[in-house]
Amino acid sequence: MSSSYVTHLESAIDGTRFEPGHLYTTHKDRPLWVRYDLPAIAKSVDRDTISRRSGDIWRWRELLPVREESSIVSLGERTTPLLKSPRLGKALGLPNLWVKDDSQLPTGSFKSRGQAVAISMANELGVRRVAIPTAGNAGGAMAAYAARAGMEAYVFMPSDTPRINQFEATMAGAKVFLVDGLITDCGKIVRAGKEAMNWFDLSTLREPYRIEGKKTMGLELAEQFGWKLPSVILYPTGGGTGLIGMWKAFQELKELGWLDSADLPRMVSVQSNGCAPIVRAYENGSRFAEPFSPAATIASGIRVPAAIGDFMIIDAVHESHGTAVAVDETRIIDWMKLGMSSEGISICPESATCIGAAIKLLEQGWLTPDDRIVIYNCGAAQKYVDVTTLNLPRITSSDFKDWDFIASC
Ligand SMILES: *Cc1c(COP(=O)(O)O)cnc(C)c1O
Repeated sequence: MSSSYVTHLESAIDGTRFEPGHLYTTHKDRPLWVRYDLPAIAKSVDRDTISRRSGDIWRWRELLPVREESSIVSLGERTTPLLKSPRLGKALGLPNLWVKDDSQLPTGSFKSRGQAVAISMANELGVRRVAIPTAGNAGGAMAAYAARAGMEAYVFMPSDTPRINQFEATMAGAKVFLVDGLITDCGKIVRAGKEAMNWFDLSTLREPYRIEGKKTMGLELAEQFGWKLPSVILYPTGGGTGLIGMWKAFQELKELGWLDSADLPRMVSVQSNGCAPIVRAYENGSRFAEPFSPAATIASGIRVPAAIGDFMIIDAVHESHGTAVAVDETRIIDWMKLGMSSEGISICPESATCIGAAIKLLEQGWLTPDDRIVIYNCGAAQKYVDVTTLNLPRITSSDFKDWDFIASC
């Protein structure tokens, strides 16, 4: 491969077009879409050819922006399991339930999908130094891919970001800074340092290619469902790249003629009531969200008080006839345990909110037992050891005999 099907980039706010092949961030402080020559792609490849290729995100290369194979920076982003979840489904009263499980991706979250493509593009366009504000996992992933590409990395995270994110980014060689504040404060620092530090800003949606990586979530779902998409996707929303990316994937697949059913999923944006700017905007009938304050949730990946792609998330929710729901912050650990103990899947607290949302939407009659529902699991539970305290019983090893105690625990 030594070409791409990208025709241009396009401002999501006013449609202004930009030539491909250059470094871009935003236009009018809002994101850019990457556009492809879809008729040409449809002529050069079909869905079965893609299905026969080895199982990683790069088999979708015609629908990705990288021109040169040699630019690709990869840690092995394998196609992730789509797990039918009958026990969890039974517990919820939703028999047709699947979990799309991204917990096994490099760095333990789906941020690797976005960063693999973003760092590959940065590599292709000559970037040697990158910076990111992060709620945690994006910084860990960026640090890993930057290391793989031999780039210098700077990561700015709130001081109460899970320790594992501090650890993984540091071990991957990034310069990591703890900021007293939220991800939005970290973002201000990255933007302020742009000239003096000459780094490329890989913030969520301030860089056009992370969405393209996240698009593979939707492409995989289509393929794994036999090109007939489920009726509902529940997605824990922070900056929104995953939801926006999946919706973009479905539009492109539809235009390519690769879907066997015209019905697209209703997209549900799920947030914790501890940080729900998108849900509040949706409920107010607004396309843009006011910053949410105070923003507090143990689901650190969705602790995003303001998102520059707010209107893209809300547009996708409307276009898909979806909805946006906030769930009770205090129940997140319970839902995490319900999901994990029902199915053994390593469910992150962010995606545990989707279990709460499923319960709520079924009660409201918005979901029905006939719906074919996907809960998107964005990361591994193991990354969140410090979000809760366990009071596990302690016993001594030698001559232990108190089986009544064991049975009662
Ligand atoms: C980043 C992240 C999210 C939110 O993803 P967005 O695409 O920013 O909305 C959800 N869960 C986890 C585990 C994350 O790391």
